[in-house]
Amino acid sequence: MKKIIILSILFTFALSKPLAPIDFDVVKEQTNTKSPTLLLMGGIQGDEPGGFNATNMFLMHYKIIDGNVWVVPVLNKHSMLMNHRGLYDDMNRKFKNLSSSDPEYFIIKHIEDLITDKEVNVILHLHDGSGFYRPKYETPLLNPNRWGNCSIIDQKKLENVKFGDLNTIVNKMTSHINDNLLEPIHKYYVRDTHTAKGDKEMEKALTYFAIRNKKPAFANEASKELSLEKRVYYHLLAIEGILDQVGIKYERDFKLTPNNIYRLINDKTLDVKINDSIILPLYGLRPVLNYFPMPKDAQITTIPLSSKAHIVGLLPRNNQVWLKYGNKLMTRINPDYIEFDHSVKNIQIKVDGELKNIEVPSIVEVKENFEILPIEGYRVNIIGYVIPNDKSKKPNETGILIHHKDCISKFSIDKAGKIFRAEIYKGDKFSGMILIKFL
Ligand SMILES: [Zn+2]
Repeated sequence: MKKIIILSILFTFALSKPLAPIDFDVVKEQTNTKSPTLLLMGGIQGDEPGGFNATNMFLMHYKIIDGNVWVVPVLNKHSMLMNHRGLYDDMNRKFKNLSSSDPEYFIIKHIEDLITDKEVNVILHLHDGSGFYRPKYETPLLNPNRWGNCSIIDQKKLENVKFGDLNTIVNKMTSHINDNLLEPIHKYYVRDTHTAKGDKEMEKALTYFAIRNKKPAFANEASKELSLEKRVYYHLLAIEGILDQVGIKYERDFKLTPNNIYRLINDKTLDVKINDSIILPLYGLRPVLNYFPMPKDAQITTIPLSSKAHIVGLLPRNNQVWLKYGNKLMTRINPDYIEFDHSVKNIQIKVDGELKNIEVPSIVEVKENFEILPIEGYRVNIIGYVIPNDKSKKPNETGILIHHKDCISKFSIDKAGKIFRAEIYKGDKFSGMILIKFL
């Protein structure tokens, strides 16, 4: 029986193409090149959402006033999309003697180039770890073999390097966290792995690559025992602790509490633009979207996306395209592959009687009714609206006043039955999408 199970797992794996490694994004928040630069990274393991949601929150809700922060929201994006620790083994063990045939070789070289960039002064690497680290054994959950809620250095000092007093910096960072503990059990400890003294595992890790290259590096771990918003809370405290230590000034646009972080992660106003032609809200979507246009012949993971959130991605899965926000699955798209044509930039829509010029793609809020004005050379198909008594296969639904009641609820893209797609076509090509959102 076991053999059959293993064989069928292998067979399924062989049938589904493995997801190719995806290079990461770097977002540079720069205000003053003379001030220090922090390199902040999350998500080297794809199943540690505390880290990559913290970098994402940082990018969305912090503003640098003086200094520079380079942020890699998620290092291991392909594994994040699959909710997997490491699709090609542990990425955080590839910083020593890595074969150039490793599928992630180009990603590791890219990180190494960033770490050794002469602009970079300090490095902070975010992880989610199991249990709660304690220097002495207390319980199975609290002991020296656990990694949750600790701040890590490889050694106490880097001689003759700015910010090279790693021990002092990390102690101030953990004090800052401990001043803001939610519960006593969450207490942070400093963990010095003394890597140079023969820790064969840590020698292969990212932070020790930095140390070998004379770059002050710190890792912060938030416990996997904690909810996502609490992990992010502790990571943000660690980031703020480091920023204070190196003199980078920032503003945050919310009061730092787990409740507020929860609210901001689950921000219902977030959306994503796909290939500059389609827009989707991240939240409230139906679990499956059918007959949805997707660019023909494109590699799914390289389709351009733009969103306020930096951890959004498209994952090809079986015959579907999954929209991911970090480890969260937002919807599964059954694609209708079609050639995209970006020729329509704006269209005119009468919204509740008022003529508006609308950018493509966008979400248009409608109270009572709307009417898309005819566009020369294009046709519009409003999914869920059926022209009464019309049997033609290629409807053009412009010049018609449409109310919410005229749209069939099951064709809405959202569970609430309020948001409908207006798809614009030029001949056989898809030119863009507008979403009509009834309030
Ligand atoms: Zn980790």
